[in-house]
Amino acid sequence: GERNCGGDHSRILVFVRLRPMAKRERDAGSRCCVRIVNRRDVYLTEFGNENDYLRLKRLRGRHFAFDASFPDSATQQEVYSATTAELVEAVLQGRNGSVFCYGATGAGKTYTMLGTVENPGVMVLAIKDLFTKIRQRSCDGNHLVHLSYLEVYNETVRDLLSPGRPLVLREDKQGIVAAGLTQYRAYSTDEVMALLFQGNQNRTTEPTRANETSSRSHAILQVVVEYRVKDAAMNVVNRVGKLSLIDLAGSERALATDQRTLRSLEGANINRSLLALSSCINALVEGKRHIPYRNSKLTQLLKDSLGGSCNTVMIANISPSNLSFGETQNTLHWADRAKQI
Ligand code: ADP
Ligand code: MG
Repeated sequence: GERNCGGDHSRILVFVRLRPMAKRERDAGSRCCVRIVNRRDVYLTEFGNENDYLRLKRLRGRHFAFDASFPDSATQQEVYSATTAELVEAVLQGRNGSVFCYGATGAGKTYTMLGTVENPGVMVLAIKDLFTKIRQRSCDGNHLVHLSYLEVYNETVRDLLSPGRPLVLREDKQGIVAAGLTQYRAYSTDEVMALLFQGNQNRTTEPTRANETSSRSHAILQVVVEYRVKDAAMNVVNRVGKLSLIDLAGSERALATDQRTLRSLEGANINRSLLALSSCINALVEGKRHIPYRNSKLTQLLKDSLGGSCNTVMIANISPSNLSFGETQNTLHWADRAKQI
């Protein structure tokens, strides 16, 4: 629209990643309802009733286009390079940025963000790339890299690198900080990878399914790069860039409870952080002056990494199965909204 021209509001890059069909989905007789064409266009097909003369009926085929869309054959490296590599470069220029994975539970958010030991995801590849770029840039150990990894669950903030009591958010000169949060000084990728997998183990699990990370848990990795440069007057100044990589809670609950009364505290709270993030993104997209960061712990923590001159990247994760059609449609609508400038 017109707001495209010359506005000073934030640009958000929006990507979609389709994951491969899972065995469980295939065994349940699912069909693929998502097609990705030209690494950009996403076609979503709703299959008709089986009884419809044994024909697959296209009821409401829909088309979406994003900054890029990744088919299920896309590698972790391809996803990293297209979505996050530029943000790592920007962090080395002292600019903040954030990358979110959004989508229903099981859609591939954690795979995209953390990945596996064999196929590490965006978090690990970003740190690897960061160390490579730092090494290319300077050999005098000028750069300091600190990591923090935290969880927002039920509007409670916890340190994933040093599990214990909930952390209190405080506002100080640097902005909003979680008091007592571990700032881990990082030197190598291997060490960081082990740390991240360990941290992920510390995420809150459902009481009923102790090995499964709660779908209500948001995990936030913050990578802070600090370095000294000489300014125009040859004074040595400190520069800091921060990259936030966020594995969001499953979007299905936020959508399911949106119109209902705030019945359970837990439901209300998961809603709060995801809905608050949606409100902030809406406000940024519309070029509003007031961005409602204060409404949740997640948005408070990301206040200095969203909007302004920050880079924001959204990766919407989707399943190919027609059994997840509703969730996929909701995710694509949400991503489509975030894309509008
Ligand atoms: P979420 O975090 O959104 O709940 P996960 O990342 O845990 O979902 O993914 C669900 C399952 O699908 C996991 O077993 C994961 O390893 C697998 N998976 C997700 N995305 C991919 C992918 N691109 N390639 C291969 N397996 C994937
Ligand atoms: Mg997950």
